[in-house]
Amino acid sequence: MRRILILGGTGEARRLAQRLAPRTDLAVTLSLAGRTGSPAAQAVPVRTGGFGGVQGLADYLARERTDALIDATHPYAARISGNAARAAELAQVPILAMRRPAWIAVAGDRWSEVADMEHAVHALGSAPRRVFVALGRNELFPLAGAPQHYYLVRSIDPIDPPLPVPFADYINARGPFDEADERALLIEQRIEIILAKNSGGSASYGKIAAARALGLAVILLRRPPVPNVPAVESLEQVLGWLDHALTVSAARGV
Ligand code: NAP
Repeated sequence: MRRILILGGTGEARRLAQRLAPRTDLAVTLSLAGRTGSPAAQAVPVRTGGFGGVQGLADYLARERTDALIDATHPYAARISGNAARAAELAQVPILAMRRPAWIAVAGDRWSEVADMEHAVHALGSAPRRVFVALGRNELFPLAGAPQHYYLVRSIDPIDPPLPVPFADYINARGPFDEADERALLIEQRIEIILAKNSGGSASYGKIAAARALGLAVILLRRPPVPNVPAVESLEQVLGWLDHALTVSAARGV
């Protein structure tokens, strides 16, 4: 049995685990940070919680005699991706990143890209606006510096404590979100501008398409840089890489 560790927290990681679960030659573990209260069910055993930095992850890989590491985390989960690259090197474990391509603006999109939340708040301007915020709870705090806006915040888990601003509502929901529902929400809430990440993929693209249809502006946080490790975009490419990596390590007698 070859041992595979998937760093997850994404739909891609869940689907990869689903594809690998029936294989009798592999023992697959999926790792979650433990951020969400009720994580989606997974087809393989799950371990939860941080490893304790680069060395902690390297020790885990060695201890579990991991044969291959697949980083299928979210494009904005920069710290774990960086840690994975360095830990794989330390533990001499082959690593592959599965990276969702970013969305590309098309005709009709009114996007502006900003470096971080401080710049996002600045881009909202001083006049009060109705803002749809599709971000995680860890990113929201800078919005407290612009209490003149109304915020409709959608996140998987409740925002607790709520933002210290006078005008905010909260929706707890997990994607995928389709365009028609997103458009209905934006219209009903009289949203003027959207604040989001360039997550890529289809699950959260509905709001982007809906914004285009309604002529709404979108502020996107810039993607963080990624470490320099082999990377692919599709599940099929991961499966191909995995078979190759495991054959090579078996031939070397590792
Ligand atoms: P992050 O800032 O890159 O990671 C912070 C710390 O959390 C890491 O140093 C690591 O702790 C731990 N960690 C993160 N992902 C982990 C995993 N899959 N398994 C075990 N420990 C993990 O990550 P984040 O942005 O907080 O995201 C956390 C998780 O949520 C990720 O798994 C990501 O795929 C998922 N997610 C993130 C976003 C987003 O926008 N950031 C969106 C959707 C899903 P140690 O250093 O102690 O190992």
